Amino acid sequence: MIMEGPPRPFTDYMPDILKRNMGRWKGHRMVEPGIMEHLSDSEKIYTVRAASTSNARYSTETIRKFADLADRYFGGYMRFTGAFNPEFFARTLEDARRLKKELEEMGFPVGGWGNHLWNITSCAGYFHCALAATDAPSIAKSLGDAAFKYFNQEELPAKLTLAVSGCPSACGGGFLADISIVGIHTEIPIVTENVKSCDLMGTAMICPVGAIQLKQAEKTIEIRENLCIGCGLCVGACSGIIFKTPEKTDGHAILVGGKASSIPPGTQLGRVVVPFLPNDPPRYELTVKAVMRIIETWKREARKGERLIAWIERIGWERFFEKTGLPFYQQSMDDLDLRSLMLLREGGGK
Ligand code: SF4
Ligand code: SF4
Repeated sequence: MIMEGPPRPFTDYMPDILKRNMGRWKGHRMVEPGIMEHLSDSEKIYTVRAASTSNARYSTETIRKFADLADRYFGGYMRFTGAFNPEFFARTLEDARRLKKELEEMGFPVGGWGNHLWNITSCAGYFHCALAATDAPSIAKSLGDAAFKYFNQEELPAKLTLAVSGCPSACGGGFLADISIVGIHTEIPIVTENVKSCDLMGTAMICPVGAIQLKQAEKTIEIRENLCIGCGLCVGACSGIIFKTPEKTDGHAILVGGKASSIPPGTQLGRVVVPFLPNDPPRYELTVKAVMRIIETWKREARKGERLIAWIERIGWERFFEKTGLPFYQQSMDDLDLRSLMLLREGGGK
Protein backbone atom coordinates (compact mmCIF):
# COMPACT_ATOMS: atom_id res chain seq x y z
CA MET A 1 0.00 0.00 0.00
CA ILE A 2 1.39 3.41 -0.99
CA MET A 3 1.25 5.87 1.90
CA GLU A 4 1.07 9.53 0.99
CA GLY A 5 2.97 11.96 3.22
CA PRO A 6 1.55 15.32 4.25
CA PRO A 7 -0.02 17.49 2.99
CA ARG A 8 -2.84 15.09 2.02
CA PRO A 9 -3.87 14.98 -0.71
CA PHE A 10 -0.98 17.02 -2.11
CA THR A 11 -2.96 17.92 -5.25
CA ASP A 12 -5.22 20.15 -3.08
CA TYR A 13 -2.23 22.47 -2.83
CA MET A 14 -1.46 22.64 -6.54
CA PRO A 15 -2.73 25.18 -9.07
CA ASP A 16 -4.86 23.62 -11.84
CA ILE A 17 -2.26 24.17 -14.56
CA LEU A 18 0.32 22.17 -12.57
CA LYS A 19 -2.22 19.39 -11.93
CA ARG A 20 -3.11 19.24 -15.63
CA ASN A 21 0.54 19.03 -16.66
CA MET A 22 1.93 16.61 -14.09
CA GLY A 23 4.59 14.55 -15.87
CA ARG A 24 4.20 16.58 -19.07
CA TRP A 25 6.72 19.41 -18.59
CA LYS A 26 9.20 19.41 -21.49
CA GLY A 27 11.67 22.17 -20.73
CA HIS A 28 12.39 25.68 -19.55
CA ARG A 29 14.41 28.70 -20.61
CA MET A 30 15.58 31.90 -18.96
CA VAL A 31 13.80 34.81 -20.64
CA GLU A 32 15.59 37.56 -18.74
CA PRO A 33 17.14 37.84 -15.24
CA GLY A 34 14.65 36.38 -12.78
CA ILE A 35 12.00 35.27 -15.31
CA MET A 36 11.87 31.64 -16.44
CA GLU A 37 9.50 30.17 -19.05
CA HIS A 38 8.31 26.57 -18.50
CA LEU A 39 6.87 24.57 -21.40
CA SER A 40 4.68 21.48 -21.24
CA ASP A 41 3.54 19.70 -24.41
CA SER A 42 0.53 22.05 -24.65
CA GLU A 43 0.82 24.93 -22.16
CA LYS A 44 3.35 27.34 -20.68
CA ILE A 45 3.77 29.33 -17.49
CA TYR A 46 6.35 31.79 -16.19
CA THR A 47 8.04 31.95 -12.82
CA VAL A 48 9.35 35.19 -11.36
CA ARG A 49 12.02 34.87 -8.68
CA ALA A 50 12.79 37.66 -6.20
CA ALA A 51 15.52 38.18 -3.62
CA SER A 52 14.60 37.36 -0.04
CA THR A 53 15.33 39.31 3.09
CA SER A 54 18.37 38.10 5.03
CA ASN A 55 17.56 34.74 6.68
CA ALA A 56 14.05 35.00 5.15
CA ARG A 57 12.53 37.11 7.93
CA TYR A 58 9.36 38.74 6.65
CA SER A 59 6.80 40.95 8.33
CA THR A 60 3.14 39.95 8.11
CA GLU A 61 2.62 43.12 6.08
CA THR A 62 5.10 41.88 3.45
CA ILE A 63 3.56 38.42 3.43
CA ARG A 64 0.11 40.00 2.87
CA LYS A 65 1.54 41.92 -0.10
CA PHE A 66 3.01 38.69 -1.48
CA ALA A 67 -0.38 37.00 -1.03
CA ASP A 68 -2.07 39.87 -2.88
CA LEU A 69 0.34 39.46 -5.82
CA ALA A 70 -0.26 35.70 -5.86
CA ASP A 71 -4.05 36.29 -5.82
CA ARG A 72 -3.95 38.75 -8.69
CA TYR A 73 -1.52 36.90 -10.95
CA PHE A 74 -2.02 33.19 -10.30
CA GLY A 75 -5.14 32.25 -8.37
CA GLY A 76 -3.47 32.61 -4.98
CA TYR A 77 -0.42 30.38 -5.50
CA MET A 78 3.25 31.17 -4.90
CA ARG A 79 6.16 29.37 -3.26
CA PHE A 80 9.41 29.91 -1.38
CA THR A 81 12.47 28.24 -2.90
CA GLY A 82 15.01 26.21 -0.95
CA ALA A 83 17.23 29.31 -1.00
CA PHE A 84 14.39 31.36 0.57
CA ASN A 85 13.40 33.31 -2.59
CA PRO A 86 9.74 34.27 -2.85
CA GLU A 87 8.78 32.89 -6.27
CA PHE A 88 5.62 33.80 -8.18
CA PHE A 89 3.81 32.43 -11.23
CA ALA A 90 2.31 34.19 -14.25
CA ARG A 91 0.34 32.94 -17.25
CA THR A 92 1.89 35.27 -19.83
CA LEU A 93 5.24 36.98 -20.32
CA GLU A 94 3.52 40.37 -20.13
CA ASP A 95 2.09 39.44 -16.71
CA ALA A 96 5.49 38.13 -15.60
CA ARG A 97 7.07 41.48 -16.48
CA ARG A 98 4.30 43.40 -14.68
CA LEU A 99 4.82 41.17 -11.63
CA LYS A 100 8.57 41.82 -11.78
CA LYS A 101 7.94 45.57 -11.84
CA GLU A 102 5.57 45.38 -8.85
CA LEU A 103 8.06 43.29 -6.84
CA GLU A 104 10.89 45.71 -7.61
CA GLU A 105 8.71 48.65 -6.57
CA MET A 106 8.13 46.82 -3.26
CA GLY A 107 11.93 46.64 -2.81
CA PHE A 108 12.36 42.99 -3.83
CA PRO A 109 14.71 42.85 -6.85
CA VAL A 110 14.02 40.04 -9.30
CA GLY A 111 16.96 37.89 -10.42
CA GLY A 112 19.31 35.41 -8.77
CA TRP A 113 19.11 32.76 -11.48
CA GLY A 114 21.34 31.44 -14.27
CA ASN A 115 24.85 32.93 -14.52
CA HIS A 116 24.27 35.37 -11.70
CA LEU A 117 24.63 35.57 -7.95
CA TRP A 118 21.87 33.41 -6.45
CA ASN A 119 20.04 34.32 -3.27
CA ILE A 120 22.50 34.32 -0.37
CA THR A 121 21.40 31.84 2.29
CA SER A 122 22.16 32.19 5.98
CA CYS A 123 21.21 30.58 9.26
CA ALA A 124 19.54 32.56 12.05
CA GLY A 125 22.84 33.02 13.92
CA TYR A 126 22.66 34.73 17.33
CA PHE A 127 18.98 35.47 16.81
CA HIS A 128 17.92 32.09 18.16
CA CYS A 129 20.98 29.87 18.36
CA ALA A 130 23.37 29.50 21.29
CA LEU A 131 26.05 27.95 19.06
CA ALA A 132 26.64 30.97 16.83
CA ALA A 133 30.17 32.32 16.58
CA THR A 134 29.26 35.00 14.07
CA ASP A 135 26.23 37.01 12.97
CA ALA A 136 25.34 35.09 9.82
CA PRO A 137 22.36 37.21 8.63
CA SER A 138 24.37 40.46 8.93
CA ILE A 139 27.24 39.00 6.91
CA ALA A 140 24.76 37.75 4.30
CA LYS A 141 23.23 41.23 4.08
CA SER A 142 26.63 42.94 3.76
CA LEU A 143 27.75 40.50 1.05
CA GLY A 144 24.45 40.91 -0.80
CA ASP A 145 24.81 44.69 -0.82
CA ALA A 146 28.41 44.52 -2.10
CA ALA A 147 27.72 41.93 -4.81
CA PHE A 148 24.24 43.12 -5.78
CA LYS A 149 25.15 44.03 -9.37
CA TYR A 150 25.75 40.32 -10.01
CA PHE A 151 22.24 39.40 -8.83
CA ASN A 152 20.45 40.67 -11.93
CA GLN A 153 22.67 43.04 -13.89
CA GLU A 154 26.23 41.97 -14.72
CA GLU A 155 26.60 38.36 -15.80
CA LEU A 156 29.15 36.03 -14.19
CA PRO A 157 30.99 33.09 -15.84
CA ALA A 158 28.50 30.69 -14.18
CA LYS A 159 26.07 30.37 -11.32
CA LEU A 160 27.41 31.71 -8.00
CA THR A 161 26.08 30.57 -4.62
CA LEU A 162 27.02 32.08 -1.25
CA ALA A 163 26.04 30.61 2.11
CA VAL A 164 26.67 31.98 5.61
CA SER A 165 26.50 29.79 8.73
CA GLY A 166 26.97 30.93 12.31
CA CYS A 167 29.00 27.84 13.24
CA PRO A 168 30.39 24.64 11.67
CA SER A 169 27.02 22.89 12.00
CA ALA A 170 26.47 24.86 8.79
CA CYS A 171 22.67 25.14 8.81
CA GLY A 172 23.08 28.20 6.58
CA GLY A 173 23.68 26.13 3.47
CA GLY A 174 26.39 23.64 4.32
CA PHE A 175 29.74 23.52 2.59
CA LEU A 176 28.29 23.08 -0.87
CA ALA A 177 28.12 26.74 -1.85
CA ASP A 178 30.72 28.23 -4.22
CA ILE A 179 31.69 30.48 -1.30
CA SER A 180 30.76 29.59 2.30
CA ILE A 181 31.32 31.70 5.38
CA VAL A 182 31.37 29.60 8.54
CA GLY A 183 31.50 30.94 12.11
CA ILE A 184 34.21 29.41 14.32
CA HIS A 185 35.07 29.56 18.01
CA THR A 186 38.81 29.49 18.65
CA GLU A 187 38.84 29.18 22.44
CA ILE A 188 38.24 26.25 24.71
CA PRO A 189 35.16 26.76 26.88
CA ILE A 190 35.45 26.92 30.65
CA VAL A 191 33.38 25.11 33.24
CA THR A 192 31.73 27.29 35.93
CA GLU A 193 29.95 26.50 39.21
CA ASN A 194 26.61 26.62 37.37
CA VAL A 195 27.49 23.36 35.64
CA LYS A 196 25.96 21.56 38.64
CA SER A 197 22.49 22.54 37.41
CA CYS A 198 23.05 20.81 34.04
CA ASP A 199 22.43 17.25 32.93
CA LEU A 200 26.10 16.26 33.23
CA MET A 201 25.80 12.92 31.47
CA GLY A 202 23.86 14.51 28.59
CA THR A 203 26.44 17.30 28.32
CA ALA A 204 29.33 14.83 28.22
CA MET A 205 27.54 12.75 25.59
CA ILE A 206 27.05 15.73 23.29
CA CYS A 207 30.78 16.28 22.73
CA PRO A 208 31.67 14.98 19.24
CA VAL A 209 35.31 14.25 20.14
CA GLY A 210 34.96 12.82 23.66
CA ALA A 211 36.71 15.82 25.23
CA ILE A 212 34.35 16.02 28.23
CA GLN A 213 35.23 13.88 31.20
CA LEU A 214 32.49 13.24 33.72
CA LYS A 215 33.46 13.76 37.38
CA GLN A 216 30.42 12.15 38.93
CA ALA A 217 31.58 12.34 42.58
CA GLU A 218 32.30 16.09 42.38
CA LYS A 219 29.11 16.67 40.32
CA THR A 220 31.09 18.40 37.60
CA ILE A 221 32.84 17.80 34.32
CA GLU A 222 36.31 18.53 32.99
CA ILE A 223 37.20 19.56 29.45
CA ARG A 224 40.32 17.93 28.04
CA GLU A 225 41.95 20.84 26.26
CA ASN A 226 44.12 18.69 24.02
CA LEU A 227 41.00 17.16 22.45
CA CYS A 228 38.52 20.06 22.39
CA ILE A 229 37.79 21.49 18.94
CA GLY A 230 35.82 24.48 20.25
CA CYS A 231 32.63 23.43 18.45
CA GLY A 232 30.46 25.02 21.16
CA LEU A 233 27.97 22.16 21.41
CA CYS A 234 28.49 21.85 25.19
CA VAL A 235 28.05 25.63 25.58
CA GLY A 236 24.70 25.36 23.84
CA ALA A 237 23.70 22.40 26.01
CA CYS A 238 24.68 23.69 29.46
CA SER A 239 24.58 27.26 30.79
CA GLY A 240 27.40 26.37 33.20
CA ILE A 241 29.89 26.06 30.33
CA ILE A 242 30.90 29.32 28.69
CA PHE A 243 33.34 30.87 26.28
CA LYS A 244 35.21 33.42 28.37
CA THR A 245 36.08 36.04 25.74
CA PRO A 246 34.05 35.27 22.61
CA GLU A 247 34.19 38.92 21.54
CA LYS A 248 37.96 38.42 21.07
CA THR A 249 38.17 34.82 19.93
CA ASP A 250 35.07 34.19 17.79
CA GLY A 251 35.22 34.83 14.07
CA HIS A 252 34.68 33.02 10.81
CA ALA A 253 36.44 31.19 8.00
CA ILE A 254 35.91 31.49 4.25
CA LEU A 255 35.66 28.31 2.19
CA VAL A 256 35.49 28.17 -1.59
CA GLY A 257 34.78 25.63 -4.26
CA GLY A 258 31.74 23.79 -2.93
CA LYS A 259 29.05 22.71 -5.34
CA ALA A 260 26.28 20.14 -5.57
CA SER A 261 25.86 18.98 -9.13
CA SER A 262 26.85 16.21 -11.50
CA ILE A 263 28.50 18.61 -13.96
CA PRO A 264 32.32 18.16 -13.84
CA PRO A 265 34.13 18.28 -11.47
CA GLY A 266 31.07 16.84 -9.68
CA THR A 267 29.87 17.46 -6.16
CA GLN A 268 32.55 19.08 -4.00
CA LEU A 269 32.86 20.36 -0.45
CA GLY A 270 34.37 23.82 -0.02
CA ARG A 271 38.01 24.18 1.09
CA VAL A 272 39.27 26.73 3.60
CA VAL A 273 40.98 29.68 1.89
CA VAL A 274 40.75 32.22 4.72
CA PRO A 275 41.12 30.32 8.01
CA PHE A 276 40.10 33.12 10.36
CA LEU A 277 38.67 36.61 10.19
CA PRO A 278 37.59 38.44 13.34
CA ASN A 279 33.97 39.53 13.63
CA ASP A 280 33.77 43.19 12.60
CA PRO A 281 30.08 44.13 12.76
CA PRO A 282 27.95 45.69 11.49
CA ARG A 283 29.23 45.62 7.89
CA TYR A 284 31.99 42.98 8.08
CA GLU A 285 34.26 44.93 5.72
CA LEU A 286 37.19 42.46 5.92
CA THR A 287 34.99 39.55 4.92
CA VAL A 288 33.24 41.48 2.17
CA LYS A 289 36.60 42.60 0.77
CA ALA A 290 38.00 39.05 0.68
CA VAL A 291 34.84 37.59 -0.90
CA MET A 292 34.62 40.35 -3.51
CA ARG A 293 38.27 39.79 -4.39
CA ILE A 294 37.53 36.10 -5.06
CA ILE A 295 34.42 36.91 -7.13
CA GLU A 296 36.10 39.64 -9.20
CA THR A 297 39.17 37.49 -9.94
CA TRP A 298 37.03 34.52 -10.98
CA LYS A 299 34.83 36.78 -13.14
CA ARG A 300 37.88 38.24 -14.88
CA GLU A 301 39.78 34.98 -15.41
CA ALA A 302 37.27 32.14 -15.81
CA ARG A 303 35.88 30.79 -19.07
CA LYS A 304 32.18 31.05 -19.78
CA GLY A 305 30.30 28.31 -17.96
CA GLU A 306 33.15 27.61 -15.52
CA ARG A 307 31.96 27.37 -11.89
CA LEU A 308 34.38 28.67 -9.28
CA ILE A 309 35.79 25.21 -8.45
CA ALA A 310 36.12 24.29 -12.14
CA TRP A 311 38.22 27.43 -12.71
CA ILE A 312 40.36 26.73 -9.62
CA GLU A 313 40.95 23.13 -10.67
CA ARG A 314 41.99 24.26 -14.17
CA ILE A 315 44.53 26.84 -12.96
CA GLY A 316 45.56 25.02 -9.74
CA TRP A 317 45.20 26.13 -6.10
CA GLU A 318 48.63 27.74 -6.03
CA ARG A 319 47.67 30.13 -8.81
CA PHE A 320 44.29 30.76 -7.15
CA PHE A 321 46.15 32.20 -4.14
CA GLU A 322 48.54 34.12 -6.42
CA LYS A 323 45.77 35.64 -8.52
CA THR A 324 43.44 36.55 -5.65
CA GLY A 325 46.32 37.80 -3.48
CA LEU A 326 44.90 35.92 -0.48
CA PRO A 327 47.67 34.91 1.96
CA PHE A 328 48.32 31.17 2.19
CA TYR A 329 48.17 29.56 5.67
CA GLN A 330 48.98 26.01 6.61
CA GLN A 331 45.27 25.59 7.35
CA SER A 332 44.34 26.73 3.83
CA MET A 333 43.01 24.04 1.52
CA ASP A 334 41.84 21.91 4.45
CA ASP A 335 38.33 20.78 4.98
CA LEU A 336 37.06 22.67 8.01
CA ASP A 337 39.45 21.12 10.56
CA LEU A 338 38.46 22.96 13.73
CA ARG A 339 41.38 21.76 15.83
CA SER A 340 43.78 23.02 13.20
CA LEU A 341 42.02 26.40 13.06
CA MET A 342 42.46 26.75 16.83
CA LEU A 343 46.21 26.77 16.19
CA LEU A 344 45.80 30.22 14.70
CA ARG A 345 44.91 31.56 18.13
CA GLU A 346 47.92 29.78 19.56
CA GLY A 347 50.27 31.38 17.05
CA GLY A 348 50.41 28.61 14.44
CA GLY A 349 49.46 29.15 10.86
CA LYS A 350 51.14 31.18 8.21
S1 SF4 B 1 24.82 26.96 11.73
FE1 SF4 B 1 25.31 26.93 13.90
S2 SF4 B 1 24.75 29.00 14.59
FE2 SF4 B 1 23.69 28.65 12.66
S3 SF4 B 1 21.67 27.85 13.27
FE3 SF4 B 1 23.03 26.10 12.81
S4 SF4 B 1 23.82 25.50 14.81
FE4 SF4 B 1 23.03 27.61 15.02
S1 SF4 C 1 33.46 22.81 22.70
FE1 SF4 C 1 32.85 20.97 21.52
S2 SF4 C 1 34.72 19.76 21.48
FE2 SF4 C 1 35.02 21.25 23.10
S3 SF4 C 1 34.33 20.21 24.93
FE3 SF4 C 1 32.58 21.35 24.15
S4 SF4 C 1 31.47 19.87 22.90
FE4 SF4 C 1 33.52 19.06 23.22
